[in-house]
Amino acid sequence: MSSRSFAADAREWFQVGEIEPGLHVVAEPGHVLSWLIAGSERCALLDTGLGLADISTAISPVAAAPAFVVNSHVHFDHVGGNELFEHTEMHELAPQWIEAGCREAHLRAYRELADSMNESWSRFERADRDGWFMIGPDETMRAWPGRGIAELGWRIDPPRPTRLLADGDAIELGERTLRVIHTPGHAPDHICLLDEAAGILFAQDQAYHGPHLIYEEGSDPAVFARSARRLADELAGRSGSSTWPTACGRRSRRASSASSRTRRRRWPAARRRSRRCGACSESGCAAQTSATSRS
Ligand SMILES: [Zn+2]
Repeated sequence: MSSRSFAADAREWFQVGEIEPGLHVVAEPGHVLSWLIAGSERCALLDTGLGLADISTAISPVAAAPAFVVNSHVHFDHVGGNELFEHTEMHELAPQWIEAGCREAHLRAYRELADSMNESWSRFERADRDGWFMIGPDETMRAWPGRGIAELGWRIDPPRPTRLLADGDAIELGERTLRVIHTPGHAPDHICLLDEAAGILFAQDQAYHGPHLIYEEGSDPAVFARSARRLADELAGRSGSSTWPTACGRRSRRASSASSRTRRRRWPAARRRSRRCGACSESGCAAQTSATSRS
């Protein structure tokens, strides 16, 4: 556990929303989404965000069981709160990419990006209030904590994981199992998590609306495309070479998905949209939720 100070107050920075019993989105609106996935014995926190506020404080009111971390990949905006948790799991390739994903240059560039994002957001919000009223409270960007960062700094330094994951591994939460699917391309270590029984694919940076960011060190558009094709084929039951063959069952054909990016949609709308397929042409098959954004 850490006694570190944060640039922003968790109660003001995060938006925690229940998608369905046992599943919460932990949003940093306009930036990134993490997910709290509950089983009967423990909760998996899929990613820990930007590390600008204490995500362990944000989830504590809704975490029905002890929480541990699973990282979709180690880009800086997904591991910012790792050090707040004793147990962290990530793909076996991740440790060698931690330094590349968390460089000071990334944080400096993101601070500059955040300034322009906030300016754009203000114009967008004013236009919305002129008559569209499309922006709900869940999408409202928080003020960028520039003063807090100047006073306390912004450091992302995830500790070494306590478990390394490989394609096909199971993460047992108690009456809920998450299956690891290695989906390199956005990042070499990127994984998706499949809850086959519930029919939910947690896709993070593998699947979201808008331009995909596949230009970081270690990114590869061709590999990303193969991962997308594999996901679509596996979830549609078209592949015979799966290392996780049970993913092709009837429940998986109804899978929806949860990504790390969202914008301009309230959670109920995002969930309704997530029931539609965005990954393949099979009717009634797999899918993705919302989003655009960065990194
Ligand atoms: Zn990423």
